[in-house]
Amino acid sequence: MIDKLINNNIYANSQGYSYINNLINTSFYKKKIFILLDNNVKKYCLNNLFFKCPLLKNSIIIEIKNGELYKNNASFLYICKILNKNNANRDSLLINFGGGVITDIGGFAASVFQRGIKFINIPTTILAMIDAAVGGKTGINFYNLKNYIGTFTNPVCVLIDNTYIETLSNREILSGFSEMIKYFLIYNDTLWNKIKFCKIKNLKNYINKYIVDSIYIKYKIVAKDPLEKGLRKILNFGHTIGHALETYFIKKKNYLLHGEAVALGIICETWISYKIFKFPYQDYLDVFLFIKKIFYNRNIINNINEINIMDLINIMYYDKKNIHDDKLNFSLLKCIGCCSYDNLLTHDLIKESLNILKDSIK
Ligand code: NAD
Repeated sequence: MIDKLINNNIYANSQGYSYINNLINTSFYKKKIFILLDNNVKKYCLNNLFFKCPLLKNSIIIEIKNGELYKNNASFLYICKILNKNNANRDSLLINFGGGVITDIGGFAASVFQRGIKFINIPTTILAMIDAAVGGKTGINFYNLKNYIGTFTNPVCVLIDNTYIETLSNREILSGFSEMIKYFLIYNDTLWNKIKFCKIKNLKNYINKYIVDSIYIKYKIVAKDPLEKGLRKILNFGHTIGHALETYFIKKKNYLLHGEAVALGIICETWISYKIFKFPYQDYLDVFLFIKKIFYNRNIINNINEINIMDLINIMYYDKKNIHDDKLNFSLLKCIGCCSYDNLLTHDLIKESLNILKDSIK
């Protein structure tokens, strides 16, 4: 159970609910609170929220469909339409209640609606608790480009309540776990050395145990570089290839979850780290075998099998955010717990790493 205050705008459990109750009781938000959620969160989590924060029962609910496909301009406009229809103004409060899709799109809507209204994030997935809800990045996808339109805007507060993870599917739990693996690889070798021995049957306990550590890592990195001018780029480790994989499969029946795509991206980018920085081969093998043990199942194997390497590389080039002088920008590991950013690569090594990924299922 997490019950400590994490920092002054990230609260856990009862402290978070007290903070929100206080905010509602003592301010004019009382009459103008909106809750953004998706259909799953409405079904599985809303009663729990109302039970812990009864004052929210009078809020106006804005519901969108679940999933990455709906992190788009149509959902964004729909949110603005409902805010407008219900006379939201700069004194209103938007509560983003859900996974990373909801905290990203809700944060974005709040940051631009009437040039900005206040918002709170209450993440309900592991991925959103340890990553998406914290750090101030908001956004939506733009056609096939991930997070192409967005802002850096911080919520008034983030409330972490890990009881919400009880209703998550195993697949969603694992998806969140990949961001945890990333944090330990880029920032904390001690935690990586602890987690790499965990057994699948104990995974949920491990994850619960390390939620706060993961949030701290994100918080510390973002505090040093809130606008991603330098250090914060290390959080993109695994994501250059990960995002391309997510985009590649997004409209297919066998789509990949964000964290699944990142897990595969971590394998490739750890391989590239080995080739570029002489990241120790044994450590590469540990990372690869760990991810293989935890993530590989029939779906993932089919996905890997289906990848057309040149199509995937074209997606990376199409996403112009990552390109400098015709080269792709990567964050790479020098050693466990030590990550470097702004490494510009031509596509040969990327291709090689994707071949390694494809060979991994033979
Ligand atoms: P998500 O929001 O799509 O949630 C995953 C699924 O779980 C959805 O189907 C949702 O309806 C369901 N769900 C949510 N909470 C539930 C609960 N408690 N019980 C049962 N079902 C529940 O996805 P996600 O994995 O949370 O987040 C992925 C998104 O986060 C991506 O769009 C990614 O780009 C973004 N992201 C943003 C940042 C950032 O810094 N802003 C960082 C990492 C990821």
